[in-house]
Amino acid sequence: MKKLQQKLLLAFMILSIVISGIMVPAKDTQAATKKVYLGKYTLTAYCPCKKCSGSNGKKTASGKTAKQGRTIAVDKKKIKLGTKIRINGKTYTAEDTGGAVKGKRIDVYFNSHKKALKFGKKTNVKVYKIVKK
Ligand SMILES: [Zn+2]
Repeated sequence: MKKLQQKLLLAFMILSIVISGIMVPAKDTQAATKKVYLGKYTLTAYCPCKKCSGSNGKKTASGKTAKQGRTIAVDKKKIKLGTKIRINGKTYTAEDTGGAVKGKRIDVYFNSHKKALKFGKKTNVKVYKIVKK
């Protein structure tokens, strides 16, 4: 008899865990954000080398360490630091600034100078910012 009670208790515990899992609303970040079109930008690339970043290296204007695939440099007057930026289906974060990055221009961070050179310069690229609804 005692074993049955234990089994029932266990079954009840599992069931309540399953139910609570179902009841918790799924976090849908896509639904809570929207894209705002900022216009057509000119994209260039940079890396932590002396030629691109001087003595700053991987240190960005936001204080964060630059990371390929995430960090972009922007004109703070156009885009606030910390803003999520969508370019060609990829989401970046505005974390850095640059003396030559003015107006509708974005500098995309790469690990190596070679990769930055390969990226080159792209004009008339549609840029969006991701904002909470
Ligand atoms: Zn470089």
